[in-house]
Order: sequence, then structure tokens, then C-alpha cells
Amino acid sequence: MVTCNRCGAELPLDAWECPYCRTVTAHGFARREAEAAAFRAEAEADRARDHAFASAQRAEAERSLQRSSRHALLWSLAGFVLCCSPLALVGLVLGFRSRALARRVGLVIPTTATLGIVLAVTQMLVFAAAIVFGIHAQMQVDARLEALERELGTEPDQPMLSQPTACKLAERFLLQNGYGEHSETSIERLRCDGALTQTASSAALEALEFEAGDGKVRANACFSRGARWSVTAVQERNCSGPAVPPAAASSAR
Ligand SMILES: [Zn+2]
Repeated sequence: MVTCNRCGAELPLDAWECPYCRTVTAHGFARREAEAAAFRAEAEADRARDHAFASAQRAEAERSLQRSSRHALLWSLAGFVLCCSPLALVGLVLGFRSRALARRVGLVIPTTATLGIVLAVTQMLVFAAAIVFGIHAQMQVDARLEALERELGTEPDQPMLSQPTACKLAERFLLQNGYGEHSETSIERLRCDGALTQTASSAALEALEFEAGDGKVRANACFSRGARWSVTAVQERNCSGPAVPPAAASSAR
């Protein structure tokens, strides 16, 4: 038995407080201290667990960020290698997603993500410029074709082919069909100073000079006459067949 410090009542050894005056006993104090300590320890453990969880989450976010940034760069690079492919768009989307993720979790935006975005945007600008350039070139070709059509008028209907008409027919043919693997838009600076030889139904214009792609081309334009004169081919070898008799061709040189 113990006695209450305040009122002197007899209390059992394990009493926490005096039932008469509510004074806390020494035993009660010790128990309360122990409980408070246990509570503090538990809170501390909770905090540690939360911290570990947050760290793990952050590490996972960081890994995921690095992954998506790397993918952004790879897709953009793939688009770059395959020139103007929509893969760059994937790179762009992934790049922006990586940026958003980095901001959300408070991490530094990885260089790979930024590079991916820059590469993708560059490609899109180049692609857009190429389209504009292509449209512009096509418009120029169309305008030139219209002009040629006007200038030619009824000239191809004449029985004899004149040098200027042959030259314009050859230019129209090149603009419409291109030369070899070169598209029509790359045919430039046509010169038709070569000899024109002709029979009633066919003709050949030699030494046609123009630029196709990166190189200078020297070719022959071959014509035939049905209802009107038209180009059958522009080729490096001579216009063959009985159309241009060897005598006529050699006398023209
Ligand atoms: Zn008491």
C-alpha cells in the first residue's frame, strides 16, 4: 500500500491516482511517462516509414523520368535519321511529358528530354520549310508550264519544227517528266544551242544542256510528229531509228 501525498489516503501499489483527491501517484507518473515515450517512438517510426516511402517514390519518379527522357531523345533521333518522319512527334510528346513529370515531382529536367524536344522541333521546322519550298517550286513549275503553253500556241502543229519550238517542247517535256531520277522541279537553266535535224515525221535536237540534281546534263531530245510535234524522249544516247537518217544527222553537225 502507498499513501496519497496530498490527502494521506491509503492506495494500492498500482493505483495511478488517488480516487479521493485525484492526485497522481508516483506509479501513475511513471506509467504516463512510459506511455508518452511509447507514443513518441511510434510517431517517430511512422515518420521514418513515410520518409522511406517518399524516398522510394522519388527514386521511382526519377527512374521513370530518366526513362521517358531517354525515349524522347531516341524517338527524336530516329525521326532525324529517317528525315521528316512522324517519329519526331513522338519524341516531342515524350519530351514535354518528361518536363511536366520533372516539374511535378520537383526534379531537374533531364538534358535528354530537352535535347529530344529541340531535335523534334528542329525537324518540324525543317519539314515545314521543305513543304513551303516544295509548294513554291511546284508553283514556279506550273507558272512556267502555262507560259510555255501560251508561247507554243499552234507552233507544234506546223509541218516543220523550228529550233525555238523544239526547245520549248523539250523544256515542257522535262518539266512534266523530269530527267532520270530527278524530279521536274530540279531541271534548271536549259540551253538548246545544238543542231536540230528533222524528217517529215521525226526530229532530233542535239546537245540539250541543263542542270538536273547536282550535275550538268547533256542530252538529245527526240521528237515525232503525229497530229502535231511532241517529244518522245530526252536521252543521252542519240535519237535512234530511221527517224533521223545518218546523212541528215551528220550533215547537221
Ligand atoms: Zn488523495
